[in-house]
Formats: sequence, C-alpha cells, structure tokens
Amino acid sequence: MSIALHRLTKSFGVAQVVDDLSLQIDDGEFAVLLGPSGCGKTTTLRMIAGLESATSGDILIDGERVNDLPPQRRDVAMVFQSYALYPHMTVAENVAYPLRVRKMDRDQISEQVQRTAAMLEIKALLDRRPRDLSGGERQRVALARAIVRHPRAFLMDEPLSNLDAKLRLQMRAELKHLQQQLGTTTVYVTHDQAEAMTLGHRVAVMDQGKLQQFDAPLTIYNEPANRFVAGFVGSPTMNFVDGEIGLAERRFVNPQFALPLTESQLDRFQRMGMKQVTMGMRPEHISVSLGELSGGQPASVYVTELMGNETFVILEIDTTRLVARAPGEFRAATSDRAWLKFDMSKAHWFDQAGARI
Ligand code: ATP
Repeated sequence: MSIALHRLTKSFGVAQVVDDLSLQIDDGEFAVLLGPSGCGKTTTLRMIAGLESATSGDILIDGERVNDLPPQRRDVAMVFQSYALYPHMTVAENVAYPLRVRKMDRDQISEQVQRTAAMLEIKALLDRRPRDLSGGERQRVALARAIVRHPRAFLMDEPLSNLDAKLRLQMRAELKHLQQQLGTTTVYVTHDQAEAMTLGHRVAVMDQGKLQQFDAPLTIYNEPANRFVAGFVGSPTMNFVDGEIGLAERRFVNPQFALPLTESQLDRFQRMGMKQVTMGMRPEHISVSLGELSGGQPASVYVTELMGNETFVILEIDTTRLVARAPGEFRAATSDRAWLKFDMSKAHWFDQAGARI
C-alpha cells in the first residue's frame, strides 16, 4: 500500500514538532525516517498509525484520507522499541493475539503462528514467556506478532535500539531480508544513520520537524541537499571548511590554507557570483602522507583512531581540524607532520544558509 503525507503538521501547545511535512511512500517501499532525537520522527509515525492526531494536513493510505480512521481500521502494524509484548502470555499467545482479536478460527491461527514462528526462527520459544527471553528473542517475537496478520504496512519505531551492537547488525540484515521477502510497505524510524542507509530504499532526513531530503541512500550520501544532511549522514562525519572563492587565484581560500578549484567549479562560482561558501569534504576524499607530497597541504597529526580495516586520522591545519580516512596499516604519532591531498572534484559546496550549491 502507498502512504502519502500532505503538508502534515503537529503541534503540542506552542511547539510545532512536525512542520509542513509532505512525503510519498510507494507500495512495497522501505522508507526510513532519520533524524536527531526530538526531530519529530516518532510523532510522524504515530500520526500514520493513528495513535496521534494531526494538527493539520492529510494522511493518505492508498489515496484515501485516513486522518479520521481509528488505528485498527488503518490495517498497519506497529513495532516498538520497547517490544510491548504481553508479559502474562506465552510467545505463542503473543503472536496469536492479533489474529484472536480478529476472530480468526483456531486452526487457522495455529497454522499462521507456526508459519510465522518458522520464518523468524522462534519455534523453540513458543511456550516461553517474554521475561524468559533475551532482547533479541523478544524483538523477533514482536516482529512475528506484527507480521502474523499480514498488515498492509509496518510502522517500526527504533525496533533494534535495545539490542547490543552485534545482535543489532544481525537483526538489521534479517529485517531487510524479511521486508524483501514480504514486500510490505514499511516506515522505519531511527536516529542511526548506518541503519537508515543500509535498510531504506529511500531515507527521509528530518531536522526540527522539517523534511530536509527524501532520496535513495546513495543520493543522500553523494548529493546531500544541505549542510545538515551532509553532516548527519556519514561516519566519520564530513569535514566543513568556511572560506571564499578566490577567482583570481583560482582557489578556495581559507585564512589558514588555500585549495585549487577545478575548471567547472571556477566556471560555476563565476557565473553565480558566489564568494562566501562552505566546502564539505568526506574523510575518504582526503589522503594523508607522512612523506612530503609536492603540492600537498602541510598539516599536523592530532590523533589517530585505529579501526582495524582503516585508520581515522584527525589532523590540524593551524586551528582547522579535519578527519581523513587512511588504510588500516597507517600509523602516526601526535604532532607528526603530514601532507594532505584533497580530491577537489569530490568537494561539496554550501552557501551561507547551508543549502547545497
Ligand atoms: P526520539 O528519537 O528522541 O524519539 P523523535 O524524533 O522521535 O525523537 P518525537 O518523539 O517525535 O521525536 O518528539 C518531537 C518533539 O515533540 C520532542 O521535542 C518531544 O518532546 C515533543 N513531544 C512528543 N510528544 C509530546 C507530547 N505528547 N506532548 C508534548 N510534547 C511532545
């Protein structure tokens, strides 16, 4: 089913927590709402579910306005961070519950529960109670309960955030696999950019109640709409340097250093008459050498972070601090001299309001 939000707003008193949000989520799509804590993601999801009323705007499910439909008539299943399992029921009873309230007959319920349990590999747990399960097992049961009745959409609110790091990665892959298998439209809320990038067909980045960009993960990564999106997605985060376009010297000029601009950048900035800009550069587009590089920008090593497969090198050019990605075997000590090469063709540019140029 498709879900469309049209100029949706939500206010609590004077606080407008969702601000003029429009989104079109396609049938079968896995859409992720991504943003920092408090940006209005959960409130948006709850409005789609019908757990929260909209202050203004429309929510359309398959083209039909559902603002006034109660949650149970919207045919969507919600999965919460807290799992929200019934503690006094066994796993089997928890999973069966949505079918029981829909008065499905006993044999059919049992068959559906078995089939869903097999899919989520929880058959061995069916007789246990939630308190006797690990976090990962509880989350599987919560998912089973959501999918057992074949809802037309899943709404998931940070469903993996109570799991430890390893389990989280494992469940992330399983969720993606499951969604591909079922093809059910899914709206997934998270503040974890890695989760958003790996799960979503498209990611809606929100900040302070406003949609910043809604695009495929790689588009968000490679062509962020503004400085907020550029800085929120990617780890380590994108480097930002404020400066001026020096048309005469054909360089991007910062008080502490200058970098050569490409022909097309020069052309573009000249046509636009831009002067004050912010350059964005991903850590993988800065290469570091401890031997002098001709044309390299001298810098000093602030600290290195060894990740095993790669090394993050935090550097300073005077007081400008930058992060570069180096190979896993890269080693350097604090205050070592280093030379940097910037892949200027990969630079991102933002105007003073933070919009992408
Ligand atoms: P988080 O990731 O922390 O859950 P979020 O992006 O999901 O954040 P929301 O839960 O949607 O954010 O909350 C957005 C804002 O609305 C927050 O500032 C929150 O305090 C506020 N808010 C949410 N529910 C209510 C409520 N019932 N009454 C008043 N303010 C609320």
